[in-house]
Amino acid sequence: MAEVYEPVIGLEVHVQLQTQSKMFCKCKNKYGDAPNIHTCPICLGYPGTLPVLNKKAVEFGIKAGLATNCEIADFCRFARKNYFYPDLPKGYQISQYKQPLCYSGKLMIESENGEKAIGITRIHLEEDSGKSIHGVESDEDTYLDFNRCGVPLIEIVSEPDIRSPEEAYQYLRKLKLTLEYLEISDCNMEQGSLRCDANISVRKKGEREFGIRTEMKNMNSFSGVKKALEFEIKRQSKLLEEGGKVVQQTLLWDDRREEARPMRGKEESEDYRYFPEPDLVALEVDQKWLHKIKEDIAELPDEKHKRFKKEYELRDYDIDLLISDHNIANYYENTVEISEAPVLTSKWLQNEVLRVLKEENINITDFAISEKRFGQLLILLKDDKINANSAKKVFNKMLQNDVSPAEIVEEEGLAQMSGSDQLAGIIEAVLEENSDEAARYREGEKKLFGFFMGQVMKKTKGKANPQETQEILRKLLDE
Ligand SMILES: [Zn+2]
Repeated sequence: MAEVYEPVIGLEVHVQLQTQSKMFCKCKNKYGDAPNIHTCPICLGYPGTLPVLNKKAVEFGIKAGLATNCEIADFCRFARKNYFYPDLPKGYQISQYKQPLCYSGKLMIESENGEKAIGITRIHLEEDSGKSIHGVESDEDTYLDFNRCGVPLIEIVSEPDIRSPEEAYQYLRKLKLTLEYLEISDCNMEQGSLRCDANISVRKKGEREFGIRTEMKNMNSFSGVKKALEFEIKRQSKLLEEGGKVVQQTLLWDDRREEARPMRGKEESEDYRYFPEPDLVALEVDQKWLHKIKEDIAELPDEKHKRFKKEYELRDYDIDLLISDHNIANYYENTVEISEAPVLTSKWLQNEVLRVLKEENINITDFAISEKRFGQLLILLKDDKINANSAKKVFNKMLQNDVSPAEIVEEEGLAQMSGSDQLAGIIEAVLEENSDEAARYREGEKKLFGFFMGQVMKKTKGKANPQETQEILRKLLDE
């Protein structure tokens, strides 16, 4: 069954923009504060008030468009999207309809069959509605928080180019990463600053016409989107297989029960009676300003990947890991500037730093060791002043104290023992103390080599240079 039908998926992603103030008034744009403290007559829709457009929100919208290869309209309009809902005091949202800010873009993703372009139909500006909070004291109550009213959003509408739940997942990941690099949104799905709706239909493989689609809402994680799509593709395919018809409707995903239910008819009325917003003049994008925004755009993930490959000669897998968070990428680059050891730095960042971040559940921006000190530690390791064993000890000390690695090495006496004069004596003593094992080794029990390595490390408190120890051991045992 699954082989006969092919899904056709388009995604609509709403992203809250991280501006200081709201879209059309001076109220603070801030999540998590006490309800209804960031409100004013404009965002509450009092009669007689007038909206004033937030220039930063337009700039952020343009940045999103440029980063997704969109055309930027030199002229666009706002429109009223009319509907009644208790958390929408104005009775309409100011949005864009026929003339969006950005259009005809694309985003490159990694699909199961290699690199693929997903078309972006449009990106338009919109204001958010308030928030209804249900069941605080009893199931009957609904509370309203208007802090979110008028918070600037962009809606990013993809073409129906997505052909599997996995592609949808990869599209969302790439889009989120791109927006994070632009620093225009924190893209926090749990807090609702990134929300995703999906249009889904299925058709027989090889058919060109689209099937009847449904819309899926209320997914609150990327893995939830994937699960919801899998559920709906299965449902539609089964329905068609059995000779039924798909009904065009809106479905709500229930993540706990892992199933979707139709929205009630009332919630679904789709006639928004759009008309041009009479309180705002048309938006003209100044070409000089556009040029400046273009110049200001930070390096994006794909460019960073290419540069890391060329500059640092790392493997694709490692690069993907380092650039998956632009703060980690920055930490890496700042460390390499000190250590001048790109591969060693990548290895230690992944094995040690990322491990600590995970264990302590913190971001790299809150990490205890500065790039400078981390770089200094790696220099000691690179120059054979300490061995990897000791470097780990120093690293752990650095997590607790703000002290330079050289000081810790000095204090703890961790400087690496090397030079055959110093080491050879110790190794000879080890072989003498373990003459039985040495004899067995010489008779062919080669796996005892590790035992001697361990004994030398024990005697030197882990400070012996491993390569030199190996060489001297081999020489003494095999001669
Ligand atoms: Zn306001």
